[in-house]
Amino acid sequence: MAIVTVTDRRMLIDGEWVESSSGAWIEVRNPATGGLAGRVPAGTTADVDRAVAAARRSFRDGRWRGMYGPERVAVLNRLADLIDAHAAELGAVETDQTGTAIKLRRDSDIPFAADNLRFFAGAIRHLEGRAAAEYSGSHTSLIRREPIGVVGQVAPWNYPLMMAIWKIGPALAAGNSVVLKPASATPLTTLMLGELAGEAGLPAGVLNIVTGRGDLVGAAIAAHPDVDMVSLTGDTETGRKIQAAAAGSLKRLHLELGGKAPFIVYDDADLEAAARGAVVGGLQNAGQDCTAATRIYVQRAVYDQFLELLLGHLRTVRVGDPRDEHTDMGSLISEQQLQRVQGFVDRAREGGARVLIGGGRAEVPGLAGAFFQPTVVDHVEQDSEIVQQEIFGPVLTVLPFDTEEEVLAKANDVRYGLASSVWTRDVFRAMRAAKALEFGGVWVNDHLPLTSEMPHGGFKQSGFGKDMSAYSFEEYTNVKHVMIELTGEAEKSWHWTIWGDPK
Ligand code: NAD
Repeated sequence: MAIVTVTDRRMLIDGEWVESSSGAWIEVRNPATGGLAGRVPAGTTADVDRAVAAARRSFRDGRWRGMYGPERVAVLNRLADLIDAHAAELGAVETDQTGTAIKLRRDSDIPFAADNLRFFAGAIRHLEGRAAAEYSGSHTSLIRREPIGVVGQVAPWNYPLMMAIWKIGPALAAGNSVVLKPASATPLTTLMLGELAGEAGLPAGVLNIVTGRGDLVGAAIAAHPDVDMVSLTGDTETGRKIQAAAAGSLKRLHLELGGKAPFIVYDDADLEAAARGAVVGGLQNAGQDCTAATRIYVQRAVYDQFLELLLGHLRTVRVGDPRDEHTDMGSLISEQQLQRVQGFVDRAREGGARVLIGGGRAEVPGLAGAFFQPTVVDHVEQDSEIVQQEIFGPVLTVLPFDTEEEVLAKANDVRYGLASSVWTRDVFRAMRAAKALEFGGVWVNDHLPLTSEMPHGGFKQSGFGKDMSAYSFEEYTNVKHVMIELTGEAEKSWHWTIWGDPK
């Protein structure tokens, strides 16, 4: 694969690199510079039909799911190795299409994505189920885990390559065929991944990538009668639309949606650790992270001290050119996103909030991108929109609390339920919080780390289904019960229940 950062990239259908049936293209802009990062085909419903048909053919003829297990493991491991080998190009393109810091993309996301994929390759060797046994007394029962069929997958723009891996990794490992749609703002690294998948030996038609608009290509995938399952990572509103579109053919759903993570700092916490944790938890990927620490609740006795530490650290965050190795935070995904974030901060200010740092566009010399300052807002109400809604920008809201009961109730008082954290040295408090918090993940004295072996996914309107771990693998399988009669008798001992008198 050549090093290219500005190019037209075709989409992948049935092993061929093709243009849209309409011949139209979508421009992918670098949000940090406003320049062109690439162009991809503007896919159509006809393209979705072709991709689904190719996926179905590949599923039916078993070219992937029927492949000898160790070979499938080897293909996925080779793909992981190729991702590592191409980390520099993938990282550069990821940085250009998202506008976020190169060190995050090249040195963190991409190696992690390769690790995620290796986990799924390994999962092929660890199928689990109940032990086969004679549960009925006269049959041997055993469990098979089968692939579901054609899986449609729709990915977001915030971690484009990593989200693509979280989708295709478990789906392919389980033996499915896939039609994947990357976000239209960030399709480039997903198409590079398609190229690498071919190089790794994934058969044609097993992974199809259709680029284009969500309300067209994504909606067509969700509604397609020959797609058996749809998996989305995206906004809660998009999840609702996909659920409605999928209802027509009763597809299985996997929805990883928005979040609004609470970050609870008790008065006995290591405040320096908590302040640092809030900086990285709040600013990771410029706050465009579904697990971002956006609601910081601090016990009143340590409120001022915590704020002082937090603001001190935030002043040292380097907002700048995403390609610069020393940049901590790059731009937001678009000018439109910046205006959205600005709107939240402005409306909070008008409602009486204090903006303690930041609050607006960050100027980066020579770059006209969508840079926003690290921002802290307090004097906000629990029921205000800035506390309740997902902002998806580098904005932390800080609220004081008095009692444990109060803070746990406030933490749970949002429609989302993806991630949360609690900072304390008291193991009893930590364990009570871990039980009470209505979120798919609870960190104690940290915020953000994930691991391939453990599940990530939401409660409530953050969706359902898990990413990563054996749970995610299971999402992409059907459980089949096989029951083998052992007596060999024509008239079974239970036939009288329907026919004849009891014996
Ligand atoms: P989005 O919902 O706007 O887009 C996600 C994908 O859905 C894109 O590919 C988009 O083109 C497509 N889409 C849009 N409208 C559609 C429709 N009507 N039918 C089918 N597909 C459609 O989300 P985004 O702005 O790309 O990503 C940010 C969101 O993703 C945030 O809400 C964030 O919290 C969430 N997210 C969640 C997780 C998680 O693990 N839960 C991880 C990352 C991001």
